[in-house]
Amino acid sequence: MLNTIVIIGGGAAGYFAAIQCAEANKQLKVILLEKGSKVLQKVKISGGGRCNVTHACFDIKQLSQSYPRGDKQLKSAFSRFYTKDTVEWFESKKVKLKAEADGRMFPVSDSSQTIIDCLEKEVKRLKIEVRLETGVKKVSPSFHGGFDLFLDNGEKLSCRRVIVATGGSPKEEGLNWLKDLGMRIEPPVPSLFTFNIPDPNLTALQGIAVNMAKVKILDTKLETAGPVLITHWGLSGPAILKTSSLGARILAEKEYEFKVQVCWLENRKEEGVRQELFNLKAANPGKLMSSTFPFVLPKRLTSYLIQKAGLDEKANWGEVSKENLNQLIQCLMYDTYEVKGKTTFKEEFVTCGGINLDDIDFKTMESKRLRGLHFAGEVLDIDGITGGFNFQAAWTTGFIAGQAAAAE
Ligand SMILES: Cc1cc2nc3c(=O)[nH]c(=O)nc-3n(C[C@H](O)[C@H](O)[C@H](O)COP(=O)(O)OP(=O)(O)OC[C@H]3O[C@@H](n4cnc5c(N)ncnc54)[C@H](O)[C@@H]3O)c2cc1C
Repeated sequence: MLNTIVIIGGGAAGYFAAIQCAEANKQLKVILLEKGSKVLQKVKISGGGRCNVTHACFDIKQLSQSYPRGDKQLKSAFSRFYTKDTVEWFESKKVKLKAEADGRMFPVSDSSQTIIDCLEKEVKRLKIEVRLETGVKKVSPSFHGGFDLFLDNGEKLSCRRVIVATGGSPKEEGLNWLKDLGMRIEPPVPSLFTFNIPDPNLTALQGIAVNMAKVKILDTKLETAGPVLITHWGLSGPAILKTSSLGARILAEKEYEFKVQVCWLENRKEEGVRQELFNLKAANPGKLMSSTFPFVLPKRLTSYLIQKAGLDEKANWGEVSKENLNQLIQCLMYDTYEVKGKTTFKEEFVTCGGINLDDIDFKTMESKRLRGLHFAGEVLDIDGITGGFNFQAAWTTGFIAGQAAAAE
């Protein structure tokens, strides 16, 4: 009995922890409990069915900066197992990963099933027992040492150590059984979402992408830069998702109603833009404004911004007043919208919040409050921006928890 390690949760973190634990100590009985009828369900649907396993960032300091929550703690954890180790681990199991131009890494098969098959094969090889439809209701430290687990089906299971890898819980009540063990919880709120903007003039531009724009949330310090995509419901793209991640808590407090300002000319200063427009007006009074527009933006977006500034696209530069030009600068650099609600990004969404990181010893992923109780994955108050960082946190914390739980 006390030779048994139980992992709760059959997701990426639970599977990786179970594999590491069984590999590190072959004398142990490793049991993985999953409340659902299938394991690795998020891996299956991740990255649009391709599974963005990790990110091609091999600098630990830079890597940890992609985690709005957990950056400090992960920095030390990454020195044990990070992106390079993930790539090597999967390669050692004959799964080659490839990096795309933006750094996201996928299996060369472009199928998440490759990752599932690899993890399942390891679980079989290491004789890890996986019990499906076996939810854990309660965990109690046992009088005799170790833990007693009370299962949904009425059974009781005893073990030496427990690894909790139950993923993000959208509601705080879902974590009450961990509160009962003395763990402190950061209230969960969603991260990685897009902005709903009920402005038909904007949403009519759906499909337009700008490679580099600056996004700012008014009345906050939130500001990011990167690609922005206009969708049929509002704004999306990496810069918006990053803003939602950095501001997960602030935007939840605002109940997802706030003003977003987009600068479509990310690398330009207002004075330079003004000078350029005024020079153009002075040099080309008889030329069509739209045909000599100086900034490289998608054509439909340019027309929209010119009209939004109250200008006629067919006007000559000579007909454009100073006020008109200032209005155009406002639209190009301080284009502001009312956000009313959010939409979950279908490629990847995560929970901000979970187990308070001050309660965890990152050398073992063990609770500082209850020894022998380890944690891995999204159940912790760790989440990253989109791009493979969330799975990397699951592999890293799963690796450390699994190895530590295997130790005598
Ligand atoms: C649509 C989508 C796409 C994504 N794509 C990517 C991507 O491409 N790249 C990336 O890095 N991240 C991606 N993510 C995020 C990533 O999937 C998660 O961060 C990651 O799966 C977390 O792993 P986990 O093992 O901690 O939790 P989970 O994968 O959520 O697994 C937890 C498991 O525990 C089980 N469980 C919960 N409670 C109990 C209980 N009491 N008893 C027994 N079992 C229990 C659950 O049923 C579940 O199977 C995506 C997320 C979503 C929703």
